[in-house]
Amino acid sequence: MAKKVVDPKLQRKKKIADCWEKFLKKHPDEKTCSIFAVKMHFKDLVVSCPQCGFANKCTEPENRSLKCAKCKKKIWILSGTFFRKVRRFQPWMAAIWFIERGVEITAAELARLVSVATSTVLAIFKKLSVVVESQMGKEIDLIASAKFVKSFMRRSRETPAGKHPREEETAAFSQRGNKSDSALHAQQIHRANRAPRPALTQEELDLANKLIGETEKYILSLLSLTPIRFDELHLQTELSIENLSAALMNLELFELLERLPGDQFILGVRADLSLTQSPQVQASNSQKDKVVSRFLDFVRSNHGGLSRKYLQCYVSLLWAFTDKVRWKKGSLIKACVAFREVTDDELIAYVTPLKVATPIALAA
Ligand SMILES: [Zn+2]
Repeated sequence: MAKKVVDPKLQRKKKIADCWEKFLKKHPDEKTCSIFAVKMHFKDLVVSCPQCGFANKCTEPENRSLKCAKCKKKIWILSGTFFRKVRRFQPWMAAIWFIERGVEITAAELARLVSVATSTVLAIFKKLSVVVESQMGKEIDLIASAKFVKSFMRRSRETPAGKHPREEETAAFSQRGNKSDSALHAQQIHRANRAPRPALTQEELDLANKLIGETEKYILSLLSLTPIRFDELHLQTELSIENLSAALMNLELFELLERLPGDQFILGVRADLSLTQSPQVQASNSQKDKVVSRFLDFVRSNHGGLSRKYLQCYVSLLWAFTDKVRWKKGSLIKACVAFREVTDDELIAYVTPLKVATPIALAA
């Protein structure tokens, strides 16, 4: 048999086209979309009047308003809901459709399909991500936003004037207060972009496997590009000062860890590299790094880049697109119906915190 060569770009286009075709079968036009949305809110299209409580049967849900049969007041049927201000439902239903089916699509691609501006779809994605984020329970890891700095390619109103979007990370960090911390943080961003080191030699690997034990791996799992102090490590690991110091020295020896002034520690220049080299070390730190690299792939193949400000939104979207146990068909629309309105002002004020919430399902 001849070898099949699959072009990932073509494959992606086909997936999107198939998904869109199925969507159009169920939601061919604006009218069917708006009726669907209203039906999701009102069982059997029965709308209680907020004034008199009369149960009205909504006969023209696409109008989004009705006159109460008893008190004659006008009722805006979606007021107070997530969809309150929606003018056209089809872009919303389409975005939800693609996310629920795990078919990754960019705002620009979806905008073309539904004939609206890319910025409109971007806002839809962000508002949906707020709903998704609200569904994160305790099953999350907190990862320092500095770890995602490679994806910061777009400016936002938080980006310092005349600076690269990456500088937003430094700014976010310094707004936390401590000036010396912020200088340090700038250094870390520089490190996040540092060139990879040559691979460990077999000899080094053998030695690493001898010296890097469970203790070292555990410490490695606590490290990120945000400095952690010795006493914090001491507290978290519950190791004796002697054992902790020895383990730190072992990690430093292989550049898996870097010691900063003030007895602070961050991941070393070789952390990423050695993780792919030595399966032993990989088992340790891996969870968080796996999530970060998965996210960077997601951004690279779908969005090109983002601003730090909305990092959390995109992490939430990745979760919704990929965790099909939690986000199966029908789940996102239900979550939206149960949610409140997300205003434009809320989006404008949105800023990703220094620790990004990432569902542990993303590390699977
Ligand atoms: Zn009434």
